Amino acid sequence: MVSTHRRAGIVLAILVLAFACLLTPSPAAAQTGLTKIAAGVYAYADVKNMSPANSFGANAGVIIGRDAILVVDTLVSAREADRLIKDIKAVSSLPVKYAVNTHWHLDHAFGNCRFAERGAAVIAHDSEKDKLTLHAPAALNKPQTYGMTAQDFAGTTVAAPVLTFTDRMAVDLGGQRVELIHVAPSHSPGSILVYLPDKKILFAGDVLFTGYHAFAGEGDIDGWLKTLNYILDMDVALIIPGHGPVSSKNDVIAMKEYLTILDTKAKELCATSDDVAHITAELLKALPPRAEGAHLVQGNIIYKYLKK
Ligand SMILES: [Zn+2]
Repeated sequence: MVSTHRRAGIVLAILVLAFACLLTPSPAAAQTGLTKIAAGVYAYADVKNMSPANSFGANAGVIIGRDAILVVDTLVSAREADRLIKDIKAVSSLPVKYAVNTHWHLDHAFGNCRFAERGAAVIAHDSEKDKLTLHAPAALNKPQTYGMTAQDFAGTTVAAPVLTFTDRMAVDLGGQRVELIHVAPSHSPGSILVYLPDKKILFAGDVLFTGYHAFAGEGDIDGWLKTLNYILDMDVALIIPGHGPVSSKNDVIAMKEYLTILDTKAKELCATSDDVAHITAELLKALPPRAEGAHLVQGNIIYKYLKK
């Protein structure tokens, strides 16, 4: 039985490792604003050169109804949320009434504060509210462990979800229904899907990484594969992943293959060695090549498979 304190330490360490590995200076990716996905639907997608300056390449979505706007994820900081808000204002003058967190990880939820300040209700799965509340204050106090500076987090405060759910929730923006769906524990215990049934568009959060190595340090592989199979059964044409370009069901199939190789090979390697550098190198040879996030593979080994 792992104590709550110990668990908190493990989870924080997972994130520390995941993001501290990204300290390598790289120029902030040029941001070109929101991409129009469909009428009233926009997204950041296909962010290159993940770094603190671009929310570690995390995507975000903007869904505009007749009466209000819902954003999908809020980026890594108040500063990054301000960038998103500026881009939203360029396409609509309606109020952002809801800010949905696909999950609690900092690159998807630490910008909540800017939307809450403007009157938006932050929505997430029950378990992600608990995790954000538990871990975000420590993260904000130690930005350097995430490869960030105090300046990067300037103005950022914890804004926990005020609306939570367990299995499903629906939001009506006026002529635009948005369905929030939790299938099973996957990338994180409460990672959710955001679905626009009339447009056959799905925001998958970090259930789907396309062109990025997947962070699975907190992952439940069986539940994750179940969630990906659920997506394959959905009436969906376009999928916006948590990181990477606008995707399709072919990318979901590729993600299933990636996770299966990761899980099988990592278990095999960790059964005979605890040499992290060796296992990482071998695993990277076995995994399908992905341009971004190679360092996340090491975090997966240490915290999921070696449980150091
Ligand atoms: Zn994540």
